[in-house]
Amino acid sequence: MDLILFGAPGAGKGTQGALLAARYGLQRLSTGDLLRDALGRGTPLGFEAKKFMDAGELVPDDVILGLVREVMESSDAAGFIFDGFPRTVAQADGLAALMERLGRSLDAVVVLDVDDETLVQRLAGRLSCPSCQAVYSQFAEPPQVPGKCDACGASLVQREDDRPDTVRRRLAVYREQTAPLIRHYRALPAPVHVIDGARPVDAVQMELRTLLEQ
Ligand code: AMP
Repeated sequence: MDLILFGAPGAGKGTQGALLAARYGLQRLSTGDLLRDALGRGTPLGFEAKKFMDAGELVPDDVILGLVREVMESSDAAGFIFDGFPRTVAQADGLAALMERLGRSLDAVVVLDVDDETLVQRLAGRLSCPSCQAVYSQFAEPPQVPGKCDACGASLVQREDDRPDTVRRRLAVYREQTAPLIRHYRALPAPVHVIDGARPVDAVQMELRTLLEQ
């Protein structure tokens, strides 16, 4: 099963994608995580990407497609959950070409729909692990020990790009450049499901499973 998760920053793609990946034995492929990992390792690509990420802008398509190609070509996963990718029409076209070359086809597209007010609140309270990329919510899902990652013990941080000014820009970029892709996918064979992502994690996850098992 190959699946795309769409949704604005803070819509829950990472959380829901990780749960689905564990449930169905799929590989979650988050381009944001790949970029943060490259940055953490101090690679030139990570350094180049940081300028765009800190400004809330999109990293150039060729960089993103190169990263995705590398992961997909070297993975033996039964399927992928694309999280935060594609974000532009050029990326969607690049993904289609890559999937065709690898003999894969897209099974579904899911849009996690969340209003802006909820997104801004969630991102303001989001704590991220710089080491293993786990994500917590100060309000809804705090770590067991305040400020420490449950999974690896590292000190949690607020992501640079979760600060209010950058969040506003990221939401605008999503509306302008990524949301129009939903229409692009509606014209293709894989079904597009829009679900209410403003509900608690478990409720959203149950709906996703029901949809995907149909
Ligand atoms: P995310 O963790 O998905 O919210 O991504 C964080 C930041 O990484 C975004 O605001 C972009 O600057 C960059 N980024 C992640 N994925 C992509 C992508 N598919 N295309 C362009 N930029 C991306």
